[in-house]
Amino acid sequence: MAVHRTAILVFGYREMTDHLMTTYARQPITFARGEGAWLWDEQDKQYLDAIAGIAVCSLGHSHPAVTDAICRQAGTLLHTSNLYQVRHQQTLADELCKVSGMERVFFSNSGAEANEAAIKIARLYGHKKGVQNPQIIVCEGSFHGRTLATLSATGNRKIQAGFEPLVTGFLRVPYNDLMAIENIAKNSKEVVAILVEPVQGEGGVNVPAPDYLHQLRQICDRQGWLLMLDEIQTGMGRTGQWFAFQHQDILPDVVTLAKALGNGFPIGACLAQGEAAQVFQPGNHGTTFGGNPLATATALAVVKTLTRENLVKQASDMGEYLLTQLRARLGNNPAVANVRGLGMMLGIELDRACGQLVHDARAQGLLINVTADKVIRLLPPLIIDQAQADQIIDTVCQITERFLSQAT
Ligand SMILES: *Cc1c(COP(=O)(O)O)cnc(C)c1O
Repeated sequence: MAVHRTAILVFGYREMTDHLMTTYARQPITFARGEGAWLWDEQDKQYLDAIAGIAVCSLGHSHPAVTDAICRQAGTLLHTSNLYQVRHQQTLADELCKVSGMERVFFSNSGAEANEAAIKIARLYGHKKGVQNPQIIVCEGSFHGRTLATLSATGNRKIQAGFEPLVTGFLRVPYNDLMAIENIAKNSKEVVAILVEPVQGEGGVNVPAPDYLHQLRQICDRQGWLLMLDEIQTGMGRTGQWFAFQHQDILPDVVTLAKALGNGFPIGACLAQGEAAQVFQPGNHGTTFGGNPLATATALAVVKTLTRENLVKQASDMGEYLLTQLRARLGNNPAVANVRGLGMMLGIELDRACGQLVHDARAQGLLINVTADKVIRLLPPLIIDQAQADQIIDTVCQITERFLSQAT
């Protein structure tokens, strides 16, 4: 018995997670509550959150407008299904179309499902044009989700390995490479769409050339292809515009959203305009939960709060400040390959793997992420103030410099 108790104390963490599938290499910390950009763990230690649940909690934790919307709607009506009209779904679609310039919305519960809808739209669009075997161009280094179709679209072998046979119908090109797409355009009659992230998130905060999306739009117009943007991470103000495509003054045919749309309440969306908005007919696609009254009332509160608190502009200004400061402090270090970003989506690429920095930062009370092995990724809530921005900069620079001077 005594031995058993000791085992629980020593391996308490493992005991706790024994009944969860081993899908994640989780950090040894459990959060109990949050407020704004702050989180507290179960020992009441305080952390500054510079990852925001992976670009989800853009309004910070426990935002009163979101909490209020959830509580009020939970006491009124949770779910009715899409057999019926859903008032908040219609209103949310109106608001999203207003800020995006798109025309129609399909609501899902996650990012991967929003991309599944986009992929189905592209295939149906192709078949309606008489293309027997429609192909979608996707990029190396991309991330589109973990369902079978979206992991097949994803440009990362680690995510696909072991899940073959993959879904066919995707043609892969390097990111930010227009010639590769032009070559496919010359040789293939089966392409119906391009699916691309305006800034690659999981792939390492890769920012393409300033006119990349503009050029993709022109190619798609010329070829009759759909331009489909995965804005699941970049959308909802993250990059300093409501949607990243608005930096380039173009309109895509399809845009997918999720992450920050519900500030932590699960909801995704597939937006479309033009021909792409007319493709789905009753029976072509659906979901039981997607767009239910609770999810859409919550997302509606998120959209209104982003507008009321002027957070898209704030993301642009504060993102610019973070990028400038990080470049000034780290840019001259020979082991720092690149400091880049767009709005509040920032990446610091080192010349070596740096997963250790996640733990170093946590020990200093800061939550960050490392992606693509070598890239420190910062995705702070859009609501951070100057002092919090400075704390992020100071801590990241300090731990990075120490890590680079110690490592061999
Ligand atoms: C997170 C993410 C997804 C997947 O979203 P889930 O909600 O995890 O299914 C897809 N695309 C991009 C760009 C993402 O960042």
